[in-house]
Amino acid sequence: MIINNQRDTINCRTTLGRDGDKTVTIKDLDSVSTKEEIEKAIAHLLGIKEEEVTVGPLRPYFGGNQATTVRLKANHAVELVNKGTVRIGLNQCPINEFVKVLQCFRCLKYGHRRDECKEGTDRSAECLRCSGNGHKAKECERTEHCVLCQKDGHRAGAGKCPEFRKAL
Ligand SMILES: [Zn+2]
Ligand SMILES: [Zn+2]
Ligand SMILES: [Zn+2]
Repeated sequence: MIINNQRDTINCRTTLGRDGDKTVTIKDLDSVSTKEEIEKAIAHLLGIKEEEVTVGPLRPYFGGNQATTVRLKANHAVELVNKGTVRIGLNQCPINEFVKVLQCFRCLKYGHRRDECKEGTDRSAECLRCSGNGHKAKECERTEHCVLCQKDGHRAGAGKCPEFRKAL
């Protein structure tokens, strides 16, 4: 009983985060990457202990890859974001400061998750750059086109999209 209570307290604290912690997102993770692998890679990159790196749940990301959020001490997080990328497995994964905006990987709209999606359009097979079909963003040579605001010049979900700013 007492042990269970203690464990609850610890879990609680971990979920809420300690003061001075920051969260960063890591994208384009290989589909076979594990939390342990990510922890190791980040600890190694920053020269810190693995215990100082808390990797969140792995989520499906575009192109069969995974994404996750990682919590670290604020100064470590800044250092990590400044590095720009981390090599995990075979992928060079971009690191970004965590912005709390939900984006649906199905319809690409903001404010809800894929499992809550009620939109008729499934865009998960479309090219992320131009919203075309039959190719991936990596192979795309067309102009970037955003389906959320119907404008050229940025991809759906880019930081400069007015729809994204609205969702912030
Ligand atoms: Zn949706
Ligand atoms: Zn394309
Ligand atoms: Zn847009």
